[in-house]
Amino acid sequence: MEQAKRLRYDVIVVGAGLAGLRAALAIDPGLKVVVLSKVYPVRSHSVAAQGGINAAIDPNDRWEDHAFDTIKGSDYLADQDAAELMCEDAPRVVYEMEHWGTLFSRREDGRIAQRSFGGQGYPRACYAADKTGRALYQTLFEQSIKHQVDVLKEFFVLQLVVHDGRAAGVVALDIATGTVVGLEAGAVIFATGGAGMMYARTTNPYINTGDGMAVALRAGVPLKDMEFVQFHPTTLPGMNVLITEGARGEGAYLVNKLGERFMERYAPKLMEVAPRDIVSRAIEIEIDEGRGFDGGYVHLDLRHLGADLIRHRLSEIYDFSVSYKGIDPTKEPVPVQPGQHYMMGGIATDKWGRTALPGFYAAGECAAVSVHGANRLGANSLLDTLVFGRLAGREASRHVQQNGPASIPDGVLKEAQESLQTLKSRASGEHYGTIRKELRDTMTRLVGTFRTEKRLLEAQHNVASLRERLAHASLMDRGAVFNYDLLAFLETGFLLDLAETVVEGALLRRESRGAHARLDYPKRNDQEFLCHFLFSHDRQGRLAMNQEPVVITHYEPKERTY
Ligand SMILES: Cc1cc2nc3c(=O)[nH]c(=O)nc-3n(C[C@H](O)[C@H](O)[C@H](O)COP(=O)(O)OP(=O)(O)OC[C@H]3O[C@@H](n4cnc5c(N)ncnc54)[C@H](O)[C@@H]3O)c2cc1C
Repeated sequence: MEQAKRLRYDVIVVGAGLAGLRAALAIDPGLKVVVLSKVYPVRSHSVAAQGGINAAIDPNDRWEDHAFDTIKGSDYLADQDAAELMCEDAPRVVYEMEHWGTLFSRREDGRIAQRSFGGQGYPRACYAADKTGRALYQTLFEQSIKHQVDVLKEFFVLQLVVHDGRAAGVVALDIATGTVVGLEAGAVIFATGGAGMMYARTTNPYINTGDGMAVALRAGVPLKDMEFVQFHPTTLPGMNVLITEGARGEGAYLVNKLGERFMERYAPKLMEVAPRDIVSRAIEIEIDEGRGFDGGYVHLDLRHLGADLIRHRLSEIYDFSVSYKGIDPTKEPVPVQPGQHYMMGGIATDKWGRTALPGFYAAGECAAVSVHGANRLGANSLLDTLVFGRLAGREASRHVQQNGPASIPDGVLKEAQESLQTLKSRASGEHYGTIRKELRDTMTRLVGTFRTEKRLLEAQHNVASLRERLAHASLMDRGAVFNYDLLAFLETGFLLDLAETVVEGALLRRESRGAHARLDYPKRNDQEFLCHFLFSHDRQGRLAMNQEPVVITHYEPKERTY
């Protein structure tokens, strides 16, 4: 067995999406920082973001209204102090990105253009056509080159090391060589993104397997709000590529088989730009009650927007519809159905990115601050990555300056090497691929937009038996170099651990709130459930649940109508 390597830094950032790069840029320049990414950085999912980033930059808009919309959108589960912090900081974030070079779309008078987005009382989504993520990412990537941020590409983090009651570094696999590497640091920030691969129907890429959340859970760090999974209303049936909410923000209609703009029945005021949970449920109901098209979809009609607007402000949507469905959206309606899109839940942090483990921080989609509560509003996630990435970077710097370096104890690396070796040498057993597929089907079928105790109990049983099966499963590639078979095996284990928390949370939450809709408990129940569920693993790897109150500043929970 090859000797494991050790590297030493002051701060380690895992994840090179927007949250990770922003965190790295906020580290005190006197400290040695490294960013790890399991893929080449520009393949991070942030690059695929389409529709926009919210900020109250218009003189007629107020950040307090943005905060209110966010809290109402969250079905009053967001921690209100965190939502306020994010919305107040938003204009600064957008101008900072603009000054660093982001090419935002413009109004006639030259100011940054803004469009409507779901659940927003004002058109406050700043955008770069329908490629906002790419524009923001390019800017941060350039900044990371300018400031010579050290990035270890194609390094796969396996484990968060805890020593003397604090984070001490990570164990990673150098994918190109198969070498196990111990990276020691006084502070560790996770910015590892979402876990959409838990579902068969998702807008997420293959790399979104929730690794960071699962690794944190296994290290004893609690996860929060895991039962809240966002389904985006408009994805192309088949591959579930996203059709941005920006299309509806620009004025596109949703139409059923009978030609009705059915949103009238569900959100008479906001119609198509109601929040995602409401629109997704409306589409599912239309389909279930026989007013959808065969194959389970409804239509998104953009034709009245005109070819010019579609080709310029929604050019990617135009390309996707033509390339994947052979449909020209300037001439025909586009078929759409809901698909998994975002994890509201994640590693529990406070509004500075701190977790329960000293020296360990999280930001971006893998974290639950919680600003999105039970339902995230569109264009609030890009904002979340930049606001909380920066704060996590600052806090981590401070922690290292006060507490000094940490080290990985002897034995940890050897143990990691041996466990990978054992996995690779398993000669028999079913291939993990079947297990992964069954998990994704289970979650889509039983833990989707609408949930019931019966469906959730079946999901609980399935997930438990899939975990049991994975413990004896095998892989095909036993090599060291670029062993993606091994990575996918490990990712399947991460997804199963997270699925367990989603299902348990969904079972325990006997109410309907935001994206969590229980047919058997259709009402929100603030008396019992105006709280966060926190899940953690005990020493034996068993799941334990705790509750935490929601932080209320001055927005009293009310009925949520649009
Ligand atoms: C198609 C699509 C469109 C979207 N559009 C919008 C939008 O218009 N507006 C908006 O606000 N939000 C949008 N979102 C949501 C938003 O883009 C994401 O939530 C956000 O970009 C996540 O950023 P992140 O930095 O947290 O993670 P990511 O960008 O997903 O990056 C995760 C990083 O973690 C690394 N990583 C993961 N696991 C490991 C491991 N084991 N070892 C090492 N590295 C690891 C990856 O390599 C990657 O670099 C969209 C999402 C999708 C899927």
